Amino acid sequence: MILIVDDKPENIFSLKTILELHSFPTDTALSGEEALKKILRQSYALIILDVQMPGMDGFEVAAAISGYSKARDIPIIFLSAANTDKKFITKGYTSGGMDYITKPIDPDILLLKVKTFYRLYEQNRELNRIQASLRSEIEFRKKVEDELQERAGELHSILESIPQIAFTTAADGKIEFVNERWLKYAPSKQTFPITHPDDPDLVKTWERTVASGKPLEMEVRVRPIDEEEYRYYLLRAIPVQEGDTISKWVGTFTDIDDQKQAVRKKDEFISIASHELKTPLTTIKAYVQLLERSIEAEDANKLYVDRALVQIRKLDNLIVDLLDLSKIESGKLKFNKRPFQFEAMLSSAIDMIRQTYPDYKIIRTGEADIQLYGDEMRIEQVIINYLTNAVKYSPDNKEIHIETTVSPDNALSVKVRDFGIGIPKAHQANIFSKFYRVEESANRFQGLGIGLYICAEIIRRHAGEFGVESEPGHGSAFYFSVPVLEGSAIEEPAA
Ligand code: ADP
Repeated sequence: MILIVDDKPENIFSLKTILELHSFPTDTALSGEEALKKILRQSYALIILDVQMPGMDGFEVAAAISGYSKARDIPIIFLSAANTDKKFITKGYTSGGMDYITKPIDPDILLLKVKTFYRLYEQNRELNRIQASLRSEIEFRKKVEDELQERAGELHSILESIPQIAFTTAADGKIEFVNERWLKYAPSKQTFPITHPDDPDLVKTWERTVASGKPLEMEVRVRPIDEEEYRYYLLRAIPVQEGDTISKWVGTFTDIDDQKQAVRKKDEFISIASHELKTPLTTIKAYVQLLERSIEAEDANKLYVDRALVQIRKLDNLIVDLLDLSKIESGKLKFNKRPFQFEAMLSSAIDMIRQTYPDYKIIRTGEADIQLYGDEMRIEQVIINYLTNAVKYSPDNKEIHIETTVSPDNALSVKVRDFGIGIPKAHQANIFSKFYRVEESANRFQGLGIGLYICAEIIRRHAGEFGVESEPGHGSAFYFSVPVLEGSAIEEPAA
């Protein structure tokens, strides 16, 4: 908008007409005072200012404008009588564009000047806009940078305060920060701590982890640079996400050597204790079996001998499980794999459960008249374990279904469904872990929590899969599937 200031309405009229004819929006003021008021309220691209006016003259108005920070840069074109001294014109006005036109006005000259100033004004405005946005961009970046630095500082003090060996790396895996403790175990800030020669190479592991973008968790033996003895550490590293991208990695080494030793001692104890228990129990079992055979069916003592045998078998099973557990721990669980008739094995397992638990109704569905390659006794052990658990955890509903299917891609699956107490969702993922028992029912049902752990290991070693579906109060379905490999030998997967 252009402000035309003149005390003569006819002058204003002719100027306004010329400018509006050329699409310049205009505003008018009939005196210097009125012009100043308007300038304070509104912003103008250009002011055309008559010099000779009653009251405030043009120069005084210009001088006043130069005092307003908001209006200081508005260009002014003075309308003056001919021969006005230029020096005079610049008086009181120090910055911004300025020019003059002598009266009578030549419209072409006026338009030329207005256009030039208008363009200048537009460019100026654009420059100011760009400058303002650049300034706010710079301020924003600086703020973000300050925040980042503050956060990194906080993270570093946290990593200094913890008892672990700790480090952070850039997104590409290059080490950026290590805490004091790191330097007791690593030759420099840029190299990883010294690990046992038999453990995986940390540099390569780290490269793979960074490439995968997935968290790392591994046990590794580490020693201080000035000592000989290695200790077990748990190395954990997680990527720090910013939006969808990884901005850095944070990692720690936690000393778990004492726990490892305790677990090893416990495993050793279980192994020794179960071996020591097994020998006398085998002898007891043999004698009681002899006794059972020598007693007449009508003999009143037969009942006691039978009961003793049931308990001996229970104890025997527990010890066998403990021995299996020790073998898994030490990598000595051996498999005797060869082809066998699955259906025959399954029928005999079901018969055995039916005899042992005559109150339970075991319904078999499906058909699996196949030859399976695997360790027959171990596969049977899994099925018996699933079935005895189904019996044990269904005290009020005595129906159990066992279903077998052979899929088109030649996998055999076995599913044992009961209608018993079920397993809460939160426990289902852990149910196959060592010593894991559902807390809520642990007091009601005896057990060690190792049966399913052994089953899992057996299925894994047959390259199979396993799992559970369950609804608390409605029952559970435990299943496993193993590949039916036609013909003879398959490689056993590494333990
Ligand atoms: P144990 O039965 O000796 O405790 P397992 O390893 O066989 O050990 O089972 C682990 C846990 O899984 C059990 O303690 C029990 O809480 C739960 N569980 C196993 N089978 C069933 C089932 N059929 N129904 C409900 N809970 C079960």
